[in-house]
Amino acid sequence: MKKKNSREFWKTTPLGEMSREQWESLCAGCGRCCVRKILFKDTAELAYTRVACRHLDTRTCRCSVYEKRSSVSLDCLTLTPAKIRLCLHLLPETCAYRLIAKGRDLPSWHPLVSGDPDSVHRAGISVRGKVLSEDDIEDADLEDHIIDWIRH
Ligand code: SF4
Ligand code: SF4
Repeated sequence: MKKKNSREFWKTTPLGEMSREQWESLCAGCGRCCVRKILFKDTAELAYTRVACRHLDTRTCRCSVYEKRSSVSLDCLTLTPAKIRLCLHLLPETCAYRLIAKGRDLPSWHPLVSGDPDSVHRAGISVRGKVLSEDDIEDADLEDHIIDWIRH
């Protein structure tokens, strides 16, 4: 039987038991997981950049190839309940999946709480207007675009 997207389901339904609709609605649409990251092997430090995946619409913060993203972009995290625990360290601290996996509640700017899909943008959490596309830079220059605000 299909589970309903009941009010505040994230407080009572474990990530692995959410319906597809509930799982998808948990994404705030911030676009923070869609920026290029650099893993420095010597220190194991993961750095975020202000360079977004070429498939991110930087005006809406939505993926333009969402349904086929895993095959179109090999770097795409393509979060699923089965692999969320393995991906937590790659997600910003504000990510709804990370928050719920760590037993936290959703913040007031999350669209599921506010009832408004734009609240994530108004609160300054999304990357809207703050990133450029990887098509607009040379790969060799990626380190020049490291920023820290996306992580927190
Ligand atoms: S960081 Fe989390 S909430 Fe934001 S777009 Fe990515 S999956 Fe969605
Ligand atoms: S392909 Fe993946 S990383 Fe790229 S915009 Fe889509 S969801 Fe984000």
